[in-house]
Amino acid sequence: MTAPATANPRIIVALDGPASSGKSSVGVAVAQRLGLRFLDTGLIYRALTALAIDAGVATDDQPGLIALIPRFELRDDGTGRLTQVRIDGRDATREVRSHEVDANVSALARQPDVRAALLAYQHRLAEPGGILMAGRDIGTVVLPHADLKVYLDASVEERAMRRIRERGLDPSGEEAEAVRDQLRARDAVDRGREVAPLRAADDAVAVTTDGMDFDEVVDLVARLVTAAEAAKPKADPSVSEVAKPKDTPSSPLRPARPADAPAGPEKRNRLLDVAMRLDNDQTMLVRMVARVTWWMASAFASVKIEGLERIPRKGAVILALNHASNLDAFVAGGRISDALRTRRIHWLGKRELFDWPFFGWMCAHGGVHPVNRGTADVEAYRLATRILERGYVLWVFPEGTRSPTGALQEAKDGVAQLAIRAGALVLPIGINDSDLVWPKGRKLPLPFPRRRIRVRVGEPFLAADVLPPSADRRAAKTAVTTAIMGRIAELLEPRQRGVYASAVREPVGDEAAPDPA
Ligand code: C5P
Repeated sequence: MTAPATANPRIIVALDGPASSGKSSVGVAVAQRLGLRFLDTGLIYRALTALAIDAGVATDDQPGLIALIPRFELRDDGTGRLTQVRIDGRDATREVRSHEVDANVSALARQPDVRAALLAYQHRLAEPGGILMAGRDIGTVVLPHADLKVYLDASVEERAMRRIRERGLDPSGEEAEAVRDQLRARDAVDRGREVAPLRAADDAVAVTTDGMDFDEVVDLVARLVTAAEAAKPKADPSVSEVAKPKDTPSSPLRPARPADAPAGPEKRNRLLDVAMRLDNDQTMLVRMVARVTWWMASAFASVKIEGLERIPRKGAVILALNHASNLDAFVAGGRISDALRTRRIHWLGKRELFDWPFFGWMCAHGGVHPVNRGTADVEAYRLATRILERGYVLWVFPEGTRSPTGALQEAKDGVAQLAIRAGALVLPIGINDSDLVWPKGRKLPLPFPRRRIRVRVGEPFLAADVLPPSADRRAAKTAVTTAIMGRIAELLEPRQRGVYASAVREPVGDEAAPDPA
C-alpha cells in the first residue's frame, strides 16, 4: 500500500450515491491518491446475490440468504482496496458483475434481516479506519459518524450514458435502452425500499457530476477528504470547524434532492443541460455578449470603470458587488468579462430564464447556471461551490436583491461561507449611481439627464485574512460578511454605503474612500 498522504490515517469517509454515479471508480482513485483503504459495499450485496442464484435461494428467503454469508469474502488486491470477491474460495470478481446479478441484487438488498446481518461485516472492515467506503446507506446507516460523507449523483441520462459507453453499445439501440430501464428500476427499488433507502445523509456534501469529467470529480472528492482530514484533529476550532464540510450543513451543503428525483425537469428544456456544464473558456459568443452589454450600458449612461488591473488572472475568485439597479450586470459584467480575457464569469440565474426565447439561449451559452427558485439557497450554494472548487470566477450580489434605496442593505452570509470554505479570493466591486439611472421599481432606465456610473474594483482578499483569531463558525461568517460588505462600501460614495457605513476602514493612501471627482 502506498504511504498515506493523510494528516490522519484513521479518517472514515462515506461515499454514497445511485448506481453508476461513479462511486467505485472515483472512490478507488481517491483512496489510491490519499493512501486510504477502499471498500465498495455493492460487492457484498453482489456476492450474496451471485451465491443465491447459484444455490437457488430466493431473493426474499432471508434465513436462506443469511446462511450464505460465510461463503463469500472480500480480499485486498494488495494496494489496500477490497476489490476481489471470493466465493467458496474461488475468484468471483467478474461473476458478481453479470447481468443476472444486476437484475436481482436490488431485490435481495431490500431484505431487512439480510441488511442487518451484513452490518457487522461492514463495521468490522471499517473499524481500523483510514477507509473510504462506498455504497447506498453508508452515511445514513452503516457509518453515521463518518468524518466526511459525500453523496455522488448524476442524472439518470448521464449515468446510463457512462454505462453505455463502457459497454461499447449503440446509444440508440435496444441494449442501451435496456441499460436505461434497468438503472431506473434499480434506482426506484433502492430509493423506495423501507430499510436503509438510498438517500443523502443530512450532513453529506452533495456532488452532482453531470458535465464533470472523471478527473475533476476525483480532484474534488480528494480535496474534500483532505479538508476533512485537516479538520479532524480540531486543533484550531475557529478555522477547522468552518472548513469542515460536514460541519457546514445547516442547509447549504445538504442536497435538495437527487439529480434525477421526480421534482426535477418534468418537461426537459435542453438548454438546461447546456447551462449545467461548467465550461470555462470565453467563446466568441461570450465575448460578443460582453461587448453588446457594454454598448447597451453606455447608451444609458457614461460608464467609467477603475481598477480592472486588480482582477486576478488565476484561481477561484468571487466577484462581490453591490446591487442597486437592473443595469448592474450590464455595466460591470461586460468590461470585467473583457478584462478576464480567456476566463469566463459564472453567474447563477433562476431556472425560468432558460424558457425565454433567445435570451434563454444566450444565458445557457454565456455562463449562467440555473437554480430552482424554491430551493435557490441550497442549489445556488452547491453550484457556487463547484464553480469555485474548480478555480473559476463567480459573480455574486451578496445582498441577494436590488436595494430599494440604492444604499447597501444587510447581506446574506452565504457568500462569506463560500469564501471561507472554498478559500477563494474575494474581489469587492462598488457600482456607484446605477440606481439613479435605473432605480428599482421603474420599468425602464432614465437616460436623461445623462449621468455617470462609476464602477470601482477593489483589492482582492482572502477570508482567512479577515477571520478573527478564535471565532466560532457563526462569528466567522459574520466577520467575513462584514469585511466583504465593508470593502464594497469603501468603493461607494457615502450615500450608498447604507448599513455598512460603519464597516469602512480608515482610508489608507488612496486605497479606501472614493475620491469625490
Ligand atoms: O453499487 P452497486 O451498483 O454495485 O450495488 C449493487 C446493489 O447493491 C445496489 O443496487 C443496491 O441495491 C445494493 N446496495 C445496497 N447498499 C449498499 C451498497 C449496495 O443496498 N451499501
